[in-house]
Amino acid sequence: MTNNNTSILITGGAGFIGSNLCDYFLAKAYKVTCLDNFATGHRHNIEAFFSNPNFTLLEGDIRDPQTCAKAVKNIDYVLHQAALGSVPRSIQDPFTTNEVNITGFMNMLIASRDAGVKRFIYAASSSTYGDSENLPKVEDIIGKPLSPYAITKYVNELYAEIFSKTYGMETIGLRYFNVFGRRQDPNGAYAAVIPKFVMQLMQHESPVINGDGNYSRDFTYIDNVIQMNELAMISDNPAAVNTVYNTAFGDRTTLNEMVSYLKTYLSEFDSEIAEIPVIHGPNRAGDIPHSLASIEKAKKLLNYNPKFPFQDGLKEAVKWYWENLK
Ligand code: NAD
Repeated sequence: MTNNNTSILITGGAGFIGSNLCDYFLAKAYKVTCLDNFATGHRHNIEAFFSNPNFTLLEGDIRDPQTCAKAVKNIDYVLHQAALGSVPRSIQDPFTTNEVNITGFMNMLIASRDAGVKRFIYAASSSTYGDSENLPKVEDIIGKPLSPYAITKYVNELYAEIFSKTYGMETIGLRYFNVFGRRQDPNGAYAAVIPKFVMQLMQHESPVINGDGNYSRDFTYIDNVIQMNELAMISDNPAAVNTVYNTAFGDRTTLNEMVSYLKTYLSEFDSEIAEIPVIHGPNRAGDIPHSLASIEKAKKLLNYNPKFPFQDGLKEAVKWYWENLK
């Protein structure tokens, strides 16, 4: 392991994506600070890092400007992941989603500007494409937002652009498309579909698909997302900054196909899972029928080269859930 004097702040570092970023950059000997209030993240996601001298945990809330100012001290790069995810959560409680995702984001931008961080990289979202029917999604063609969550993520992009232009900050937004993989939380009312279905199938329960299952998503394995964060951080291409990128594999899979792969991979551990029937429920508010990213911009400007197609990532994720949560 080489010594690395670069320091990174990962907000939301106790969450699914954030803890994977902590893990990856600690393994590369970066100095990593995690800022998290454990609203949806978990101590068990980061416990393994506590003994690493390069790791610092700052427990706090991005809604508090002073906490943000403290967190960015001596930081080179910010990877801002902290937010309240989930479209249904934002429909249930738009106020708190707005506070965390917009006010919290603004606090982090201001703190990063004032501390002179080298680059502010943030989790944007494919939900920004809203009701646009364009496929594949290209970065500069978006529709109207379909949920409070989508509004917050779009507002993040607008503020990042204005901060770049007005204060000369370097920012990069990564529009994540349905990320999945190790440590994604399978529990709670707002769990993402893949971990939720894995847990249900492992417990011999029928997963409930919203709608007929022909909706499709560009499901993106966590390691592809890590690669994008690293490229966004280290890129020295001046044309690559102050913009947003689709962060995806660039392929789509229907919900029905996804469940069928899950059953196949899980039945290698427990053959009875192959027989579990699937239930279909009503479509969910705020869901778009299809989502597929063009990843040409990231390939061209950041040399992005995703290593994990959906099925390869899903096999890895299933194995992780079986070994860790069964
Ligand atoms: P997650 O819920 O696992 O992680 C979010 C983390 O932020 C949690 O650890 C949570 O405790 C922390 N957090 C929430 N509110 C906070 C606050 N006020 N102060 C400090 N920390 C706070 O979710 P995730 O899937 O890892 O998502 C990470 C980021 O990626 C989010 O910004 C999310 O909107 C975005 N995103 C995720 C996906 C996906 O498919 N998972 C897709 C698009 C965008």
